Amino acid sequence: MGKIIAIVLAAGRGKRMQSDVAKQYLLVRNKPVLYYSLKAFQDSIVDEIILVTAENEITYCKEEIVDKYAITKVSQIVAGGKERYHSVYNGLKACKDAEVVLIHDGARPFVDEAIIERNVRMVKEHGACVSGMPVKDTIKISDVEGYVKETPRRDLIWTIQTPQTFRYDLIRNSYDVFLAREEEYSKQYSVTDDSMVAEIFGGIKVKLVEGSYNNVKITTPEDMVLAEVILG
Ligand code: C5P
Repeated sequence: MGKIIAIVLAAGRGKRMQSDVAKQYLLVRNKPVLYYSLKAFQDSIVDEIILVTAENEITYCKEEIVDKYAITKVSQIVAGGKERYHSVYNGLKACKDAEVVLIHDGARPFVDEAIIERNVRMVKEHGACVSGMPVKDTIKISDVEGYVKETPRRDLIWTIQTPQTFRYDLIRNSYDVFLAREEEYSKQYSVTDDSMVAEIFGGIKVKLVEGSYNNVKITTPEDMVLAEVILG
């Protein structure tokens, strides 16, 4: 049996936060946002954590988060890349003896052990699964002029979160295919999550698994207020 490895992404700059400090390092209850997801994986069934950060933040992460809070499952801190998918690929290439990988946004502090366990259970059955929740609002698709074009069936629509979890060989192969012809494919597709890479470049069927409504991504300043409320 190979290892269960979590790749935690923290190499983004987060322009929408309007802050000099990247959103994953802002403090919630005196601890950096990134601490909370690392702690959830530390306390879970994963064997190892690979943290992906900007090159010049590796030392800060090691000293001020990983060592300070004894996140002992972090085996490597590797540098990310320009786009999220570059950061994921660097994480995938750093994996050794992986059977399953959970790919998680470090900007989602409220992942918990139950979500992680559901992902691992599902991936063993289906090979690929992504966390998400059914939408509460009605969703409409607009045309380019801003008129309603379509109202899809609400019971089939989910908002997608992370972790997104895969058998290692499946996701590694999908990323290899994508990045071998990155220039061409990145013009054709706007790749915003890992599931897309598996679906499009690996032809893989991906199962939806329940995340939680608290598993929000910190993106804009209002989300910091929400984070305080969720922790409270
Ligand atoms: O920007 P976005 O909200 O999509 O970022 C999602 C996650 O991916 C964040 O945790 C961010 O730090 C990470 N990321 C990264 N490398 C990039 C861009 C984003 O690790 N180049």
